[in-house]
Amino acid sequence: MCGIVGYLGNREAVPVLMQGLKQLEYRGYDSSGVGVLHRKKIKVIKEQGKLEMLERKLTDKLNTNIGIAHTRWATHGGVTTENAHPHSGPEGKVAVVHNGIIDNFSNLKEELQAKGNVFLSETDSEVVAHLVEEYIDLGPEQAVSKALSRLDGTYGMLFLFRDHPEMIIGARNGSPLVIGIGQEEMFLASDALAFAGFTQHAVFVDDGEMVILSNKDYRVVNRQNIQINKNVEELDMSSNIKDMQGFPHFLLKEIFEQPKSVFRAMGRGGRLLPDFGTALLGGLNMEKRDFYDIRKIHILAMGTAMYAGEIGKYIIEDLTRIPVEVSDASELCGINPIVEKDTLFVAVSQSGETRDTIAAVQEIKQKGGRVLGLLNAVGSTMARMTDGGAYIHAGAEFSVASTKAFTSQVTVLALMALMIGRTRDISLTRGKELVQELMDLPDKITSILEKADEIKKMAERIKDHHSVMYMGRGINYPVAMEAALKLKEVSYIHAEAYSAGSLKHGPLALICEEIPSVFICTSGDYQEKTISNIQEVRARNGRVLVISNYEDDTLRKVADELFVVPSSDSLLSPLLTIVPCQLLGYYTALALGRDIDQPRNLAKSVTTD
Ligand code: GLU
Repeated sequence: MCGIVGYLGNREAVPVLMQGLKQLEYRGYDSSGVGVLHRKKIKVIKEQGKLEMLERKLTDKLNTNIGIAHTRWATHGGVTTENAHPHSGPEGKVAVVHNGIIDNFSNLKEELQAKGNVFLSETDSEVVAHLVEEYIDLGPEQAVSKALSRLDGTYGMLFLFRDHPEMIIGARNGSPLVIGIGQEEMFLASDALAFAGFTQHAVFVDDGEMVILSNKDYRVVNRQNIQINKNVEELDMSSNIKDMQGFPHFLLKEIFEQPKSVFRAMGRGGRLLPDFGTALLGGLNMEKRDFYDIRKIHILAMGTAMYAGEIGKYIIEDLTRIPVEVSDASELCGINPIVEKDTLFVAVSQSGETRDTIAAVQEIKQKGGRVLGLLNAVGSTMARMTDGGAYIHAGAEFSVASTKAFTSQVTVLALMALMIGRTRDISLTRGKELVQELMDLPDKITSILEKADEIKKMAERIKDHHSVMYMGRGINYPVAMEAALKLKEVSYIHAEAYSAGSLKHGPLALICEEIPSVFICTSGDYQEKTISNIQEVRARNGRVLVISNYEDDTLRKVADELFVVPSSDSLLSPLLTIVPCQLLGYYTALALGRDIDQPRNLAKSVTTD
């Protein structure tokens, strides 16, 4: 996934642009470049590879206050310096950075080549710069507008003009664009993250709109050249700045951010309708009556997002009575997935760039399936491919091991379940109850975090073991799976998750003093049975740590260590029980001196097969 950034103001443009690109870097890209106005010319510097490679090329001090920049994720043309953006018109009057794909670029290219234009890259994007330059005598705004009218495809684009040193033009169709409004300075980027730290005021550009930017002002017009009045939104960017804010690691910072990120996943309350006992996710692009046509929900995801999906399955099935299947997306394509018209597919991904999930979405869409995306990264590839969806608004997640994205994914799945369930199945009273329970979550998470030191002690109990078992029943089983993954990822201790019920069917053979167990045991249906399973482990000299949402004598007696989270509706308990498990992974890794934010062998978004 690529990013674009534009800057116009009083600062030196190059450092601002580079900072913007760095903020978008974690998404994955293969090359990058900047284009600035310098000594009445457009100067383009670009390079394949990491941003450091580009930085090495930026040795000359370019005194300029205006520029555009890009991180490319190649779609048309190999990963080469020539194919990196910006691309310029034949006379260097216009430069463009582009996210997306121009579907009709070959025809346009042939047309321009017939007129004698020479192209320097294999990209679809270069044709846009040539086309705008073709019309530049009409003035920049008209030239862009005319060029856009000839394009088919998706784009978020920025244009820089040699002869208009106080103007950047942006255009959007299917690929995101957001204006950042500062004091006498303006930003235009594919993601507000690019200007985090500079301004919180943002205007989101919609498809079919064009932005004309000066350092003091902006105008947004539609395809008919009619000016549109847009809302200026104040964004909470504190979660987006690549800054540990006093925490020793991003992982810990992100765990502690969860009261806020879960609240953001609920649209700061705006996605909840307390009077109607329901939730509203506007971006699903589905009418209420469409919910009656759903016969099955099929969740596609990988890793932590898949475990969020597994928890989502329990919540959705309970509240909607629609059967849910959760698939490891990497397994799906190979087996020729079954796509039926009344199945709703839901792709869950933090980055929106997960290669395996993208491949599954492609295959399902190819077969005509309807796919929604529950994503964190605005405007990511999956956001562009899906038929609708909801952002989880976790804020940028920098730690490789995912925590706040997980709880936000579960929260949004719960909102989706409530919205569909309240339409088809559940009563106003039950709906209201759940809305209240959701609203109570942030404070409950805060109260868990206040007891983080208790988990630090538990970590001492497991840090010297080579293997740990995680167990739970019902909705606690996928919590155990995610908890085990957290421990594996950051501490490198082998961990296995089993349903507590399956213990006797094999895993019990492993139990001994050297292999401790972590049980997720919450009040309700499975409580008694889980306690019996704990007893079975204790009877075989197994050490038991229990994460629970209630406390009584029995529990205190069977647990070697007990951590109690606040009680909640059982469907939402994973949002609380997972928090101590995340902390357990963190503190164990800390005690072992691991590279917590960059665990060996792992990358943040897995963009390769
Ligand atoms: N299609 C363009 C290219 O391949 C843009 C890719 C992107 O979105 O980074 O260069």
